Amino acid sequence: MPGLPSENIRGIIFDLDGTLYTCEAFADTIQDAALTYMAGLLGIRQTEACQLMADTRQRLAQENGTLPTLSAVCVELGGDIRELHRCFTALLQPEEYLRPDERVTTLLRRLAQRFSLYVYTNNNRALATRILTHLGLMDLFQGLFAIDDAWLAKPDERALADILAKTGLAPAEALFVGDRYDVDLRVPEQFGCVVYLSRKVDQLLRLDELLGRDTEQMQIGGV
Ligand SMILES: [Mg+2]
Repeated sequence: MPGLPSENIRGIIFDLDGTLYTCEAFADTIQDAALTYMAGLLGIRQTEACQLMADTRQRLAQENGTLPTLSAVCVELGGDIRELHRCFTALLQPEEYLRPDERVTTLLRRLAQRFSLYVYTNNNRALATRILTHLGLMDLFQGLFAIDDAWLAKPDERALADILAKTGLAPAEALFVGDRYDVDLRVPEQFGCVVYLSRKVDQLLRLDELLGRDTEQMQIGGV
């Protein structure tokens, strides 16, 4: 795989869940919390809510050609995204599931020496802060962009334009890293940003090499 064009990159904007950590058991509890919320809202059993959400996810995927986010499924079924996140904050216990990964901490520490690092997540600020703090990563980021900043879930062009403005990064200077292309990367790529799909920690750890290699090539080429 070729290196990323790091000569222009000044900032890296990471997705959080599924990107800076992966944990299926915790992801399952997020789905369960959404089920609890939807079942309560609609006055149905959780098993019914589960089927309804699965059917809705499939229908939206067929209509739009991309897999919808959990937020989109809940909103489609009449849910309120603010209430959904209130439910997440009350129910979710990331500290019980997630463990700091020294490899990721080391990677981010190294990257932070060369780039401005940010997190951009469809999670809410309270939970994202708890997760980043628990993973020992919070201090490595210059900024956190969360869904409750303006209640605009990824993917969203206005939210992305706002992030570029707030970070002061031109599109070519921004590298977006995420585990879902349609949610995390498609819009940044359309804006002209550099993107990197990372679905496993092993892929995330390759960032150092992918960014470093290009620099080395540049230096060699420049001599
Ligand atoms: Mg993600």
